[in-house]
Parts: sequence; structure tokens; C-alpha cells
Amino acid sequence: MELSSTTSLTPPQSHEPAYLENLNDPQREAIEALDGPVLVLAGAGTGKTRVLTTRLAHLLQTGRAYPSQILAVTFTNKAAQEMKERVSALLGGMPVEGWWLGTFHSLAARMLRRHADLVGLSSNFTILDPDDQIRLLKQVMEVSGVDPKKWVPKAMIAMIDRWKDRGLTPEQVGAEDAGELADGKLHLLYAQYQQRLRAINACDFGDLLLHMITILRNPAHADVLGEYHRRFRYIMVDEYQDTNVAQYLWLRLLAQGSQNICCVGDDDQSIYGWRGAEVGNILRFETDFPGAKIIRLEQNYRSTNTILKAAHAVISNNEGRLGKELWSAAGEGEKITVRGLWDGEAEARWVGEEIEQLQRKGRSLNQVAVLVRAGFQTREFEERFIQLGVPYKVIGGPRFYERMEIRDALAYFRVVVQPADDLALERIVNTPKRGIGDATVQTLYAYGRSHGINLHDSILDLTQTDELRPKVKTTLMKLMDDFMRWRSLLDTMKHPELAALVLEESGYMQMWKEDKTPEAPGRLENLKELISGMDQYESLPAFLEHVALVLENQDASGGEYVSVMTLHGAKGLEFEAVFLPGWEEGLFPSQRSMDENGLKGLEEERRLAYVGLTRAKEKAYVSYAANRRMYGSWVNAIPSRFVDELPKEHVELSSDIGLAGSGRSSHWDSSGLAPKVQKRQIHERKVLSESGVIFSRGDRVFHDKFGYGIITNIEGHKLDINFDHSGHKRVMDSFVEKN
Ligand code: ATP
Ligand code: MG
Repeated sequence: MELSSTTSLTPPQSHEPAYLENLNDPQREAIEALDGPVLVLAGAGTGKTRVLTTRLAHLLQTGRAYPSQILAVTFTNKAAQEMKERVSALLGGMPVEGWWLGTFHSLAARMLRRHADLVGLSSNFTILDPDDQIRLLKQVMEVSGVDPKKWVPKAMIAMIDRWKDRGLTPEQVGAEDAGELADGKLHLLYAQYQQRLRAINACDFGDLLLHMITILRNPAHADVLGEYHRRFRYIMVDEYQDTNVAQYLWLRLLAQGSQNICCVGDDDQSIYGWRGAEVGNILRFETDFPGAKIIRLEQNYRSTNTILKAAHAVISNNEGRLGKELWSAAGEGEKITVRGLWDGEAEARWVGEEIEQLQRKGRSLNQVAVLVRAGFQTREFEERFIQLGVPYKVIGGPRFYERMEIRDALAYFRVVVQPADDLALERIVNTPKRGIGDATVQTLYAYGRSHGINLHDSILDLTQTDELRPKVKTTLMKLMDDFMRWRSLLDTMKHPELAALVLEESGYMQMWKEDKTPEAPGRLENLKELISGMDQYESLPAFLEHVALVLENQDASGGEYVSVMTLHGAKGLEFEAVFLPGWEEGLFPSQRSMDENGLKGLEEERRLAYVGLTRAKEKAYVSYAANRRMYGSWVNAIPSRFVDELPKEHVELSSDIGLAGSGRSSHWDSSGLAPKVQKRQIHERKVLSESGVIFSRGDRVFHDKFGYGIITNIEGHKLDINFDHSGHKRVMDSFVEKN
């Protein structure tokens, strides 16, 4: 009797598909709640993405839907690919065809091709890149008499893009939205720009969603909406916290049919506010979809409890959170290593050593990541890894020396050093734009070929004759004169200074300063970093040789590699060991983000810290440097406030620099490098200012870099100061003098 009753209690394991095993109860609930709206709102590593993947497999396996009846939205194309592979694997390798799985853009483009005629396009419309967008708007501005010199077209396009992110068509924006922009006419330009796009059968990225929303909203095309309602029986969305308004409207329209929409997200990981994402979308889900089932997951399967507690402590400093605490069955694990280092070079050296140690312990490099806040930070790590022979890949972007602006800058330096470098000269002859078109370059090459000479000499020859248009001729002559002058400075000027001079005088720096795209500030930082890194080499030619070797020496294909990427790019990913360098005020949290968006900006930075920490399964390493080199000069850095927010009991702190710069470090001594003059200066200044000055709130003080200001708060050696001209900053007391 007893035996049989036990038997009857055992669930019929054999009928249960393998993919449902090992799920916890709320996860299973989220997977099996197929009908009606579902929101999985849960912290990092709780299996949200896994729930979506399993749900997809479940829908297919149980025959509830064909792949073509499921709309699944991922944040990146890479994530879409991974999801496809994971679903196929869950289904035992069954190939899945015809599904609607991809990013918002790719899915919307596919839809729009089917209905292009409804918005006055034909289905083979072109998708314009940002350069084309600007060119088109510029034409529109000229026709309308708006001066493109006064109103930079790139900035105007950025505003139009933002309207599109918010789902606003030209009819929906008015003079009050335009404000001063484009002499108060930006809303009119927007309408004309849209007309021009239509005339050339083209779309920009924002249009893909905007046109689809327009079609789906139009009662005259109710049949189209109806068709999609019938088609998409299930809708699923990953990283829902980062959707913008247009994406949200599009989803809501599509989900009105079946109401079977399942979104997963984490309000603490919303990191795209700067691109129009609205975390409010996730908080409003219940109102938008009445009767929605809200599922919370609390067990984290990724990280140790130490990592979770540390991440939780940091994010708890944000206000207005939904609030959630995670636990893990993975035990306490190792403490977080927090390390203070002298400068960026020492930081890269230390990270390199730690990675080698992980390797010795048998760790796979594929399980190691370095996550930086700003793109320029990768250079020092890349250099170090190459030196050590540690294979690495920069994920989500080119390696430092392969970045467009770096290649352009290098091309200038190459022509300075080596006038016969045709490829380099061709690359920059019209960058920044100087009115030298392809036709001119072709004429020059043709001349060079027939006379057996290089591009440089061809230019010199043809600027002596009347072959070229007078304006082109003058421009080229000026450029050649510039190069000759820069070349003459090679022996007398310090090469980082010469490099900076070339980039300034050629107008290249200016080009990026005027550029209003979101990437421009990062490019400027990269250029500064390029120059900062140069003084380690003897001369400009020696530096160029180093770069050529670095570029050649980069084959990480096939084998294992360390992943280097930005915190933004690391969303959704996981690694056993994660390095988080550059935790310094101004770098992380980023000064720009705080200046532009105040507290909101700071909180978004903090969410990035949360994302970074929660990528680690077993071990997180946080580091900061006391000195950063920017543009060849030293900037005194202080540890990020996020370092202070890490709970002491979960941290193992070691520092090569006393917090207040207390003298030379042993690490520095043992590095074998000759102490640099700048380092000594900083060191001495610190010691001097440590001579017992006592600060109090309200004191008026002077700082070398920021000038005069008033102390508003004091925390140990850190002072919050309201500077007369530089605004609010946090600095070390050792760099401040009492007035
Ligand atoms: P993020 O917020 O970072 O995107 P997430 O919530 O999407 O995280 P996943 O990436 O889906 O989390 O899962 C984190 C890790 O935990 C993955 O390695 C996943 O395979 C694993 N995992 C999730 N659920 C379970 C489970 N029930 N049993 C075992 N492992 C699980
Ligand atoms: Mg995920």
C-alpha cells in the first residue's frame, strides 16, 4: 500500500520535456502562463532570458504556435542569434525556420517592406546611414533658407531622431517643440525632410518603427493590423526596461490582438536613458495590460552571494527603485578585490598579472572579461595583453587602433613621417571635408601612374599647373605646405606635442568637436588617449612602427580569448571573472553624464555599475588609478563614489597608493620604470599639501585645475566643492589650498 502511494506521488517524469526540468517554480509559472500578458520583473541573473528561450521552445514543442506565429524581440542581433541556437538546442537540434526573431529595427524593417506602399514608399526602399541623413537635411535647410553654419545639421538630425524615438510624426510636433531650433522652424524642416525621404524612396532608422506605427494606427489600414493580430499569437520581449516610446507603441499595437505578450526586464538595468529609453514603460505594464500577471524571480543562478550583496548595496543608493533582493545557492564565494593603483599603466599591468594567475589556475580566458566605462580605456589593456601574449577581443567595437578616428589620425602622422604613403594621404586628403572629391583624387592618381610617381608628388606637380580647379589647387597647396611645416618640426618638437598640433591645425579635432552625433565625444577621448600613449615611445616613427606591429599581431581566432568591452555592451552576458577598471570620479560615474543629466545621470551610471558587477559569476575585481593621463598631462583622480558604496565586509581592499597619495608605493618601486618627472611632481605636491591643513565646510579654497570654490561637504580626505567656474566637483584634499 505504502509503496504504491509513494509511486503515485511521483510526477510522471518521463512525459515531462527535458527543457522544463531544473526550473524553479516562478520560472516555470512564467513559461507555462502562455495566455494573457505576463511581465517578468526580476534582477540580474535570475533567468529572465532563459525563461524567454524556454518559453519559445515550449510554444514550438507543444504545437501551440509555429515559428512564424511568434514575435520575439532581442536587444542585439547577437542575442537573437544566441536565442536561435539555444532554442534549437533545447529542441534537440531541430532546425527552426521562418521565425520573427530579432531586434526592433530588423523586425520593423521586415514588416515595412511588406507595406511600404501605404506610406508612399516602394518595398525596395533604401535605409539611410547617418551621413546620408545629414546630407539630406542639409539640402532641406538650404532650400528653406536655414543657415547650416548657424544650425549644425547633425544636431538638428539628433533632435529629429529623438522625436522619432518618441513616436512623433511631423504632424505631431509643433513650433513649441522646435523652440529656438533652426530659427524656430525645425518642425517644418522635419516635415520637408520626411517628404524628401519619400521622394528618394528612403527611410532612416527611426522611420522603420515610426512608419509601422503610422500604418498600424491608421483606421484605414485596419486590415494590416488585423493581419498581424492573427499572425502573432505570442509576443516576447527581452530587456524590456530599455525600450523607447516608439518601440513601446509598436509592441502595444501588435499585442492588442492576442494579448499574449511576455516581457522580461529589470528596472535596475535600464542604461539607455540617453538614447530615449523610458524605464517608465516597464513600470506601467500593469496599467497597459490589465490583468497582467507579474512574476518576480529572486533566485540568482549566476553569481555568488558576495557579488549579489555588493551589487545590491551599490544600487540601493538609487531612489525610486522597485526594490528587490536576490539570493543565490552558489555560496558566499570570494570577496571582491578592490585595488588602487598609481596610474592606468599600472592598472593594466595588474589586470594582466591577475589574468595570468587565473590562467595558471586553469581558468579559460573565455570566462574572463574586462568591462570599461569609456571606449578609450581599452587601449592600455590592449597594449598590455599584446605584450603578454594574452589573446583578447574587443567586443562590440573595433580594437583601439582600428577605430575610424584613430586610423585617420595615424594616417596624418604617417604622411608627416613618410610623404610617399599614398594610402594614408588618400585617406585624409578630404578628411575633414576640404572639397577634394573622388574625381580629383582619380586625376591625381592617373597623373601619378603615367609619370611613375606617388600621390604626394603628383599633388606637388599638379598644383603647379592648371589641371585642377583653382579652389582645389589652393586647398591642396595649403595642405602640402602644412605637411611640410609639420615635417620640419619632427626633430625639434616633442612628438606628442607635434601629434596634437597636426590634429589641431589640420582641422581634424575641430571636425569631431563640431560633430553632434552621440559617438563624437568618445572619438575625441580616443584621440586624446592616442596622444597620451605616445610619450612611451622615442619618436613618432617609433610609435608608428609599434602600432603597425600591434595591428598585425592580433589573431585570436579559434582559440580562447579575454573579452574587452564597454559596460553597455555587456548587458545580458556573464563571465566567471570580471574586471571593472577605472572606477574614478569623472570617469565612472562619467562627468559628462552627471553634467548633462544631474541626479538622473548619476543614477544611470550607478545602474551601469550594477550591470557590471552582476556579470560576474565568481569573482569581481574593481580598480582605480590615482593618476590618469589625458592629453599628455596628468589628471589627479579620486576613487569613484561607487567604490565607497561597496560594503566593506564583502571587499578586500589593497592599494598601491595611500588614499591621500601617501608616498611612493612599493609597486611603483618594483616596476623597474624610471620615475617620470610628472609623477614626482604630483607626489611632492601631495606631500606638501598634507602638512596638516584642516578644512571645514564653507571654507573658500583653491584648486590648480578648477580654480576657486567653496567646500560643501567633507568625507575623509574627499571634499565636495562648488567651484566658481567649474561647478560641483569632488576632489582630494591634498590638491586643494586654503585661500
Ligand atoms: P540579465 O538580467 O543579466 O540579463 P537574466 O535574468 O536574463 O540576466 P539569464 O542569463 O537567463 O539571466 O540566466 C543567468 C544564468 O543562470 C544563465 O547561465 C542561466 O543558464 C542560468 N539559469 C537560469 N535559470 C536556471 C535554473 N533554473 N537552473 C540552473 N541555471 C539557471
Ligand atoms: Mg538576460
